[in-house]
Amino acid sequence: MRFRDLAYLCEHLEATTKRNLMVSMVADFLKRLNKEEIEPAISMILGRPFPKWDPRKLDVSWATLSKVIQRLTGTSWRDLSAAFRNTGDLGAAAKMIFENSRMQRQTTLFEKPLSILEVRNVLEAVAEASGPGSRERKERLIESLLGRALPIEVKYLVKIMVGEMRTGLQEGLMETAVSKAFSVPLKKIQVASMLTGDIAETAALCAKEGSGGLLRLEFKIFRPVKPMLAQMAEDPEAALKEHGGKTAFEYKLDGARIQIHKSGGKVRIFSRRLTDVTKSLPDIVEIIRQRVKPDEAILEGEVIAVGKNGNPLPFQHLMRRFRRVYSIERMIEEIPVELYLFDIIYMNGESLISLPYLERRRKLEEAVSDISLTKQLITSDSKEAEHFLEEAINEGHEGLMAKRLNSPYIPGIRGKHWLKVKKTLEPLDLVIVAAEYGTGRRHGWLSDYYLAARDEDTGEFLTIGKTFKGLTDREIEEMTKRLKQIAVEERGHIVIVKPRIVVEVAYNEIQKSPKYKSGMALRFARITRIRDDKDPEDADTIQRVRQIYERQFLRKSRLS
Ligand code: AMP
Repeated sequence: MRFRDLAYLCEHLEATTKRNLMVSMVADFLKRLNKEEIEPAISMILGRPFPKWDPRKLDVSWATLSKVIQRLTGTSWRDLSAAFRNTGDLGAAAKMIFENSRMQRQTTLFEKPLSILEVRNVLEAVAEASGPGSRERKERLIESLLGRALPIEVKYLVKIMVGEMRTGLQEGLMETAVSKAFSVPLKKIQVASMLTGDIAETAALCAKEGSGGLLRLEFKIFRPVKPMLAQMAEDPEAALKEHGGKTAFEYKLDGARIQIHKSGGKVRIFSRRLTDVTKSLPDIVEIIRQRVKPDEAILEGEVIAVGKNGNPLPFQHLMRRFRRVYSIERMIEEIPVELYLFDIIYMNGESLISLPYLERRRKLEEAVSDISLTKQLITSDSKEAEHFLEEAINEGHEGLMAKRLNSPYIPGIRGKHWLKVKKTLEPLDLVIVAAEYGTGRRHGWLSDYYLAARDEDTGEFLTIGKTFKGLTDREIEEMTKRLKQIAVEERGHIVIVKPRIVVEVAYNEIQKSPKYKSGMALRFARITRIRDDKDPEDADTIQRVRQIYERQFLRKSRLS
């Protein structure tokens, strides 16, 4: 298949926002490919030169690319910058420049069209060029590639090389397209993608071996698996309840998740997004080599940066370490990291994911010598759990994870087997601006409250959340009477009230959300007190809410 057909497909994808149309265009395209082309084509459509978990990196900067483009087209740096300013996109800018350069078109007329596999071969050669003179070699390879490309091909080659596809076709839609192209149920494709960690590889397997191939799919060392994720719980008590009264709490460390693959003396480490971060963590590689007993294992853990006194360093420091590929030796001294393991999902040819948590944890303990595991407390006592949470926070960690004792490891799923519990943020004083009638026992009562913060600039009250939690039945009854007295309008089952009543509200997180005009929403909001001692003018402002949001965001920016 010609690369230009892939470029046209991407151009059509870019031009539409209709998801169904995108899926059917991609599915039709995939059906026309031969087996060898499937993986490279899907990787490229998703804006990647190689499969997602592939350790090879092109290591080509925009500066290098623009040098090659200038050389090929005779364009000045100024024109190139202007094209970029006009289009706001490197690929589109490159296309524009190539279209304006006559010379380029003449050469491409005589050339054999580029094929998808040829493009992959060149990209492989670019990635593999290393050592002295590699920069020039990379440039020459790219020059020969772009020199043979049509402007529209240049656009997508550049996008693939800089990793910015922006067609709006995400991995989820690609899974649907693959399911359609190969007539395999979407669920099967999704499950397989969790194991392969990559839709391109799943599709290639489908093409080669049909859905039977997917069923036989197993763990493979050095092919990362999508990590199991956690939902949020309000507090330790809620986590205990969800897990049937007893659960395993672990410290939730504020670091970076890593998945470690070991086979003999060879170790590779993947981030939560399944990129290969082995090079940034040579010290961890050494620890794994020396202290993990099984010959073959896939382990999961968290690395945190630690300060001189042994306490965790803020997350940003760890990120500096992760971004670094060169001069890593100095970084190891500057930002020492510590590894805490919390799971083992594969050992000596055997998948452990269907074993219950407790058993995996036991196997993990046996598999390592002298590597810390995340601190754990198995309990049915919410007071004890609350205490454990305090302790985690006091030691500078993020909170706790609650893990259902008999739960399997389900790759890629954000379910309730794992629950994260964080310390509530500082409470806010908010104003009730509307209320809804409850149902069942609360029928006839205004029991669901819209909570707003004041905008300092306009004086307007902007809703940031809604809750039916926190008040006793008597308080709700009383509140209903008070709200009815200050009601200004009924819209369906919502009663709009004058902003008069202030309540103190606890919550676990502030999120950006399109739901309210304020653009923000509280998660797990609950009323902790009625603040009749406060006027609406004394309530917290939207500006303060934004500040708290920003602060939590800083802490949360993570590598993966
Ligand atoms: P979140 O990123 O807030 O969804 O929380 C899930 C993340 O917490 C995981 O991906 C890990 O990086 C991290 N984490 C920290 N400590 C643990 C632990 N003990 N068990 C599992 N994940 C943990």
